[in-house]
Amino acid sequence: MSAVRGVALLGATGSIGRSTLSVLRQHPDRFCLVSATAHGRSAELVDICAEFKPELAVCRSADEAAALCGPIRAVSPGTQVDHGAAALAAAASHPAAESVMAAIVGGAGLAPTLAAVRAGKRVLLANKESLVLAGGLFIEAVRAHGAVLLPIDSEHNAIFQCLPAMDGGGRGLVGGVRSILLTGSGGPFRTRARADLAAVTPDEACAHPIWSMGRKISVDSATMMNKALEIIEAHWLFAAPAERIRVVIHPQSVIHSMVEYDDGSVIAQLGQPDMRTPIAHALAHPDRIDAGVKRLDLAAIGTLGFAEPDFERFPALRLAYEVLATGGTAGALFNAANEVAVEGFLAGRLRFDAIEPVIESVLQAIPAEPVTTLEVALEADRRARVEAARLMAEHFAS
Ligand code: NAD
Ligand code: MG
Repeated sequence: MSAVRGVALLGATGSIGRSTLSVLRQHPDRFCLVSATAHGRSAELVDICAEFKPELAVCRSADEAAALCGPIRAVSPGTQVDHGAAALAAAASHPAAESVMAAIVGGAGLAPTLAAVRAGKRVLLANKESLVLAGGLFIEAVRAHGAVLLPIDSEHNAIFQCLPAMDGGGRGLVGGVRSILLTGSGGPFRTRARADLAAVTPDEACAHPIWSMGRKISVDSATMMNKALEIIEAHWLFAAPAERIRVVIHPQSVIHSMVEYDDGSVIAQLGQPDMRTPIAHALAHPDRIDAGVKRLDLAAIGTLGFAEPDFERFPALRLAYEVLATGGTAGALFNAANEVAVEGFLAGRLRFDAIEPVIESVLQAIPAEPVTTLEVALEADRRARVEAARLMAEHFAS
């Protein structure tokens, strides 16, 4: 067996972070945690340090770092405690980390994930927003720095497993691949009429019927914005043109996605709706390890259902294809407007059914331009946030 792999974990206290720790815990002979970051939930960060003894722990602020130094040193004397953007980048590019799990939520994950890419790491990418915000530059950096990208998003991990061997860096769909079939459960409101969505509460939107996830991605699943972001994520990860990416509604979430070939073959990856499977797959790749996941009992599941997605009912899907057709900073605008709208909805400032109208209005208000530098993408992100907040306050307040 190979040497112990050092792992950096960005977003250690989140849903993906906890699932990653669960897999690491089962394989101390294969992996060791070298750095961990958290933004709040500092008691959990102390527990992580006590159990895994990382070399570096990064928290949200100087005050938090000062308060955590004592408790962390008491349980793990070798752990250095730090905070801020430079410390996040240091955690991501830690010399002892071979693999970096990028599991910070939202555009905030871009800079630390890029730091891992620029350090030439194996980057286990959960943070799909990085690709939506600045996919072209991100993939260019992967190539330039010899980093390896392994998708964690269950659909993209499934596609990765169904495609012929690839080098993990947007090489492009090889000959013989006809299309990528992204499956989506349809979320908690799949069968609810659009007119009945006005009164949806944050707790209802976050109660996903199949997957247990962080609150932002749960709301994204309820609007199907998550699938919209995943269409763009697939475009960049697999260098797949928009017309070769199709969405299929599959309420049971047993098939995590499929690849269709020219000869008529369709290859699917199946599994429990448990993120520890893609996480274990990417951590150990190309080996296979136990993820601690229940075995799939197909006879108990009985039937798998499929349907076409409803683009009227879920306008986010239509917007994703429009964003791909526009290109440039449209992805950054799309992602940032969604983040602000979701935050507003979770805080009770925006109606659920106003999320997509806010995003569409931002896309109409700010013209897209070519992403020539990272600054251009980040400026579009900033402008979209300001415009979304203005629209919410002036036109869409709940
Ligand atoms: P979460 O909200 O549960 O956790 C987010 C983590 O990021 C936490 O550790 C938090 O402390 C940290 N964080 C939040 N804001 C930060 C900031 N400004 N700076 C630094 N750190 C910050 O989210 P999650 O559900 O674990 O999702 C994480 C990422 O993985 C998202 O990009 C999501 O789209 C993706 N993803 C999640 C799932 C899932 O099942 N949860 C599945 C596929 C993809
Ligand atoms: Mg997914």
